[in-house]
Amino acid sequence: MDRARRGFLCQASRLALLATAGTAVAREPSKKYPFSLGVASGSPLPNAVILWTRILADPLDASPPSPLAIKVRWEVADDEGFRHIVTKGTAIALPALAHSVHVDATGLQPDRWYFYRFILGDAISPVGRTRTAPAAGSMPSMLKVAVGSCQHWEFGCYGAHRHIARAAPDLVAFLGDYIYEWGPYQLHHPEKVGSGDECFNLSQYRRRYAQYKSDLHLQASHHAAPWIVTWDDHEVANDYAALRDERLADDFAQRRAAAYQAFYEHMPLRLPAQRSFANVQMYQRYDWGRLARFHVLDDRQYRAVQACTPPDRGGSSSVSRRDCPALFDPARTMLGAPQEAWLEQGLRSSNASWNVIAQQTLMAQSSYVHLPDPPTGRYWTDGWNGYPVARQRLLESLRASGARGPLVLSGDVHTFYAAELRADINQPVSRDNPLIATEFCAGSVTSSSRPQASTDQFVSVNPHIKLGRSDLRGFALLEISPDKTVTHLVALDDVDQADSPVFGLADFMVEAGRPGALRI
Ligand code: FE
Ligand code: CA
Repeated sequence: MDRARRGFLCQASRLALLATAGTAVAREPSKKYPFSLGVASGSPLPNAVILWTRILADPLDASPPSPLAIKVRWEVADDEGFRHIVTKGTAIALPALAHSVHVDATGLQPDRWYFYRFILGDAISPVGRTRTAPAAGSMPSMLKVAVGSCQHWEFGCYGAHRHIARAAPDLVAFLGDYIYEWGPYQLHHPEKVGSGDECFNLSQYRRRYAQYKSDLHLQASHHAAPWIVTWDDHEVANDYAALRDERLADDFAQRRAAAYQAFYEHMPLRLPAQRSFANVQMYQRYDWGRLARFHVLDDRQYRAVQACTPPDRGGSSSVSRRDCPALFDPARTMLGAPQEAWLEQGLRSSNASWNVIAQQTLMAQSSYVHLPDPPTGRYWTDGWNGYPVARQRLLESLRASGARGPLVLSGDVHTFYAAELRADINQPVSRDNPLIATEFCAGSVTSSSRPQASTDQFVSVNPHIKLGRSDLRGFALLEISPDKTVTHLVALDDVDQADSPVFGLADFMVEAGRPGALRI
């Protein structure tokens, strides 16, 4: 299909969605309609959930926000028609936070679905659907979680989000690269307005989020369920580590703070009031009764810088173990000591049937050449392969904690993977070398990856990786129940069509008490 035709289809489906979206958005976002970015909810607790919106009439308007604070009403109801309102209030959208609104709607009932909306003058926002977590101590029979990551604007349409919304999950976990900070890329779609210059300051990051969030399929995915989120590198800068970026820029700390602030402004995230965004504690824990505990990690903000970078630049590279002994320096951390201790405590104290570690990048040890780990094996230093001692500590802490049902969810690498994690990947599974956890990497919403032939070769030399597909885009859908977790890897027919169908790429089962990915 030629590019113009693909573009037409993308546009047509956006208009069709607008036409069917109901009265709340029937007024097609005009210059005046203040809810052009939709609404969102997230960080669900048994009695509370964060409700989000940002007052912005035109997502692509580059002018600075009005200096006035704006008073917005919000409502939470049992029903979509808002006949039975269970709680409501007003919130102030501050110019200092780009007129974003984060309402912590408390006093809700556990394990319940709700509808919410914002009202400004006579404008009513789209209606979002959200829910609370089940009560502590309860055992829900099922939890459906959609997992996504990596949605480079220029690399396709957000058809994956259309299908996430359709799947009606209880929860969406987004694992990073929500935006890409880069400058212009070649556009797949003539009707999409490309990104501007690379983001360095707050107004640029804000514009980038507004551009991404103008997409109605992404909005639909937010309107369907509460999200839990973490970030990866591209919310700030490619391959950054703590306070070092690829360019070794002197003012990177300022850039990072601007990017962190813009992330908060656009995510339904529960954070304590911040005086500064120089550091933001993003790692969070969410319980789903006794069924599941989510340990949401931040592996960007506290990590040691990548090992063995070429002179005069930061970022990642591919190294051999022989030429990079620094890889094995035990002082090198991925999470930082406080987060490691927090994770260990969260695992030890967990009474959940499933302990889900939701984090950014592939954890499975994986060499580009072959096992067992010859000096010729090469490792990409930005992922967990670049932090082997920290990974060993995490796996050991997971094992020693006795936490049940360990699952690792990952993003970043734009590839669907199912993998088994064991203490020593170079040795066969044994009593001394048990399987510790099962990992699923949820592919990418749009971002592209290497050719499948390279991934086939990669999988063939890493037998603990049960599947690898880098030629397809999509998401994962987990059905977590007390006795098993079924993970559906869902792929798009065509990332260049917003209304693309999807197909089941593969389904894996993990049985309670038995780590390992069983293809079903
Ligand atoms: Fe990415
Ligand atoms: Ca990434």
